Amino acid sequence: MSTQVPRACPLCGCDNASRPPHRYSRPPWILKGCSQCGMVYLENPARYSALANELAWEKTYAAEAETRRQRNPFLYRAARAPKALWQRLLGRDKLVSWAARYFSPGPVLDVGCSGGHTLERLAPQFVPYGIEISEELSRLAQERFAPRGGRVVQGDALTALGQFDAGFFTGVIMTSFLEHEPEPHAVLSAAGRVMRPGCCLIVKVPNYGSWNRAVRGALWCGFRFPDHVNYFTPPGLRALLVQAGFEVQRCGIFDRFPTSDNMWLVARRP
Ligand SMILES: [Zn+2]
Repeated sequence: MSTQVPRACPLCGCDNASRPPHRYSRPPWILKGCSQCGMVYLENPARYSALANELAWEKTYAAEAETRRQRNPFLYRAARAPKALWQRLLGRDKLVSWAARYFSPGPVLDVGCSGGHTLERLAPQFVPYGIEISEELSRLAQERFAPRGGRVVQGDALTALGQFDAGFFTGVIMTSFLEHEPEPHAVLSAAGRVMRPGCCLIVKVPNYGSWNRAVRGALWCGFRFPDHVNYFTPPGLRALLVQAGFEVQRCGIFDRFPTSDNMWLVARRP
């Protein structure tokens, strides 16, 4: 397919082109398990240009959600209900409380900000900035951020991060982002450049080491083709952050508990 670019392991750089596809591959999308570090990753991710439009997340996600709903309507509803109920009851969520705890007031960047709904929830002392590759979603986010003095850069993360001054942000968020990024090391390094020394990065990604993945196998909700290109375990995520120059501040057992499909981590820029 013309939309694909082969790549080596995003964690250790090992070229696994000669290895057979991983059993969780879904042709034409080829997963590889790295022979050197064990990381599972998509070897042939879509080009950035395709992700901006025809393979934009909001379109592929809607199709994937509909497939899951049809396959098992009860499980689909059950998986979505607890989070919504929890947020409604408490009026807050983990990201809001962690931002208040780990970020200083000032400009905060959401890399892969989607339609801007995440930063919209943060307290008024944070000025929301975003990077979003989808043209449609970046327009929505811009409408949300502009009244608070922030803005959105439309494009791939690596190029967009280059448009901000060094040390500009007092906090950076990457929730449901790194699993989509074909060049996670380069993007994390670029994010470190635009962060003020001592400030923090909050990361949330699907946990490939979760028990649900082991039980559900190829039907695990973390598999999304071609959107998810990196499948992190807790040690893999931690190693990537350290390689990119961060200090892992927090990734405790309750942040990466294997009963959850996701894991959270806070990293500090030295
Ligand atoms: Zn590797």
